[in-house]
Amino acid sequence: MKRDGDNIVTIDGPSGVGKSTIARQVAELLGFWCLDTGAMYRAVALKADEAAADLGDSVALSMLLSETTVEFDPAGSVLLDRRDVSKLIRTERISSLSSRLAELGEVREFLVGIQRKIGESGNIVAEGRDMGTYVFPGAKYKFYLDATVAERTKRRFHQSGRGDSEASLLDVEAELRERDRRDTLRAENPLRPAPDAVIMDTTRMSAEQVISSIVLRVKDISLLHD
Ligand code: C5P
Repeated sequence: MKRDGDNIVTIDGPSGVGKSTIARQVAELLGFWCLDTGAMYRAVALKADEAAADLGDSVALSMLLSETTVEFDPAGSVLLDRRDVSKLIRTERISSLSSRLAELGEVREFLVGIQRKIGESGNIVAEGRDMGTYVFPGAKYKFYLDATVAERTKRRFHQSGRGDSEASLLDVEAELRERDRRDTLRAENPLRPAPDAVIMDTTRMSAEQVISSIVLRVKDISLLHD
């Protein structure tokens, strides 16, 4: 018998671990849709930035959210108020602002509502920080990816396209540590593995190894239960 969550794969973990790339490819291999929830926090951060919102003013922030839509188009591009902002949200400024906005209850509540709505149709790989613990606690397949700070710094650094200097490597590491601190210490839905998640230390694994390990487990579990 099919239950809610049967067709939901959650992938959580800290910044820089490579979740987005992995989730996208896992989704492709399973024929599922990939829900990049970080992109949604980033879209709200862009909106707040463009409106020069005061993050300390929760009434103004709630008002701003009530006039905001965050959706995805069929190709997976994130739409803020119907505008494709996929590229605009990938700046360092928006990374840092989204991490601060993600601490606010109003923002989380707003986005979790949209995420659960999207999840209703199933067949998704949902990627973020609180997918297995809070947004989709009934998901059948939960993964938590981890890696050392040094390894995540290296991965993020290669992605970032910044100059190859020691100073920028140290900057990337400092930003990662700061985002880890905010993600793990926030009061609302902090980053942690769900009790029933498969925890994978990916420090010494290639992206391909992580992807195939996830896909094989999903297939194994679904064979066991069908
Ligand atoms: O994963 P990504 O770096 O794109 O996420 C942007 C920010 O959104 C992160 O710094 C994280 O704090 C926040 N986030 C979150 N919960 C999620 C997804 C992202 O708090 N489910």
